[in-house]
Amino acid sequence: MQPAILRRILIPIILLIPGSLLFACTSMPATNPPAQVNVPTAQIIPTNTPPSLPTRIPSPTVTPEQVEDIPPLSQYHIEVLLDYPAQRLYIDQSIVYVNNTGSALNELVLIVEPLRYERVFDLQALSWGSGAAIENYTYNETMLEIPLLEMLDPDTSVEILMSYILDLPSQQSYFGYTGRQINLADWYPFVPPHRPGEGWLVSEPGLVGEHLAYDVADYEVLIRTPDLNIVLAAPALGEPWDTGFFYRLGAARSFVWSASPEYVILGSAAGETTLLSYMLPEHRIAGEAALQSIAQALPLYEGLFGEYPRPSLTLVEADFYDGLEADGLFFLDQAYFGLYFDPPRTYLTALAAHETSHQWWYSQVGNDPALEPWLDEALATYCELLFYERIYPEAVDWWWQVRVERLTPSGWVNSSIYDHSEFDPYVAAVYLRGVTFLQELRELIGDNAFFDFLRDYAAQGRHRIMTARDFFTILADHSQADISQLRSEYFSVLE
Ligand SMILES: [Zn+2]
Repeated sequence: MQPAILRRILIPIILLIPGSLLFACTSMPATNPPAQVNVPTAQIIPTNTPPSLPTRIPSPTVTPEQVEDIPPLSQYHIEVLLDYPAQRLYIDQSIVYVNNTGSALNELVLIVEPLRYERVFDLQALSWGSGAAIENYTYNETMLEIPLLEMLDPDTSVEILMSYILDLPSQQSYFGYTGRQINLADWYPFVPPHRPGEGWLVSEPGLVGEHLAYDVADYEVLIRTPDLNIVLAAPALGEPWDTGFFYRLGAARSFVWSASPEYVILGSAAGETTLLSYMLPEHRIAGEAALQSIAQALPLYEGLFGEYPRPSLTLVEADFYDGLEADGLFFLDQAYFGLYFDPPRTYLTALAAHETSHQWWYSQVGNDPALEPWLDEALATYCELLFYERIYPEAVDWWWQVRVERLTPSGWVNSSIYDHSEFDPYVAAVYLRGVTFLQELRELIGDNAFFDFLRDYAAQGRHRIMTARDFFTILADHSQADISQLRSEYFSVLE
């Protein structure tokens, strides 16, 4: 492995599927590069960054997805060797953290979610970009706290190198392995968002929902696996590299992936966007239907909320409960594929539309999913309605009855994940009362103001972490209607 590869600006990504498959749902064979077994490396990834600290901001990697009006982002370069039979990953990682917080920092915090499990995360080496070892770091629960050698001023950067081994836990989860797949979300150490005056935005898990917020960053990830039979599902189109694939994902909240020897890959397209679905073989037909829903939803949301910025979107069938949104990729529970029946009046259709919309309400427009989950989940659920209204208007009544009224919406829209101990009441409050709130808001202010507002909220929130305050402030720019009664009906006291 040549160390410079992770810094190279690569020529246009090679599509891994034949062009003829880009225009219709068609199964495609899993392809991996030729076998070439490599020994696990424990080397730190050398980089081109000068060893001084703090360094100047590096030139951001230019990617096709990256828009021009955002400041240099932190960069993650991650090199993985996957030993699938052992459920073990050997990882070298560099983080060039760019201080975009607006204030000087005297420490860095890394969130290491694998530390929630015993004997899963094994740190082998930790150093500055210079190669000098970092010795005075401490663990605080799942946080790795690193005092900086000197203050990190705004708009400067610091580089950290690390090597570690992950021994995945056996569990049906977005992080772990089962007999059918491995799933990798929140698998690498990352720097959480930092709010001036408030500090690092780090939340503990609740019994429901998701708890972590993410800054946007640029990712370059090389995943190698000596086993030819393992199919990788990733949030970007990969370029064959060595015994694996090299991926770039610009301005992303996270890099989430999956692998299985069983995946059947289906391909489709929405305009210029390649759509891929990694299915367990028994659900191929349902997978094609899900891809069709994504192909319908993506251009619809682009028209309403702005461009989808990536060349691809990947769906992965999950053998864990419900699913999970990520940037450029989402998981959907295999149960929804197994229950696929009578489209479009089926959960799979609705949820494919829902998860696709998270590419706006999660990926592009961030929020704190622990304290304000409604900001992405109510909007994503409402996008299901917009999908049915425009694509399958004959099924709108079914959607209201089965998706919303069946569970009886109740509770405060702005519940946090800590307000609920069970999934159904959480959904009834955040998702479903969220939907009825948005519907009443739309009826109150009218379609023009409502959709202008959503488009503006998406534009102003792009690459940021939005709050309820932002939501209502931007709303007020688009309507003078008195929404105080609506707010008091649906929201517990908002500051
Ligand atoms: Zn959702």
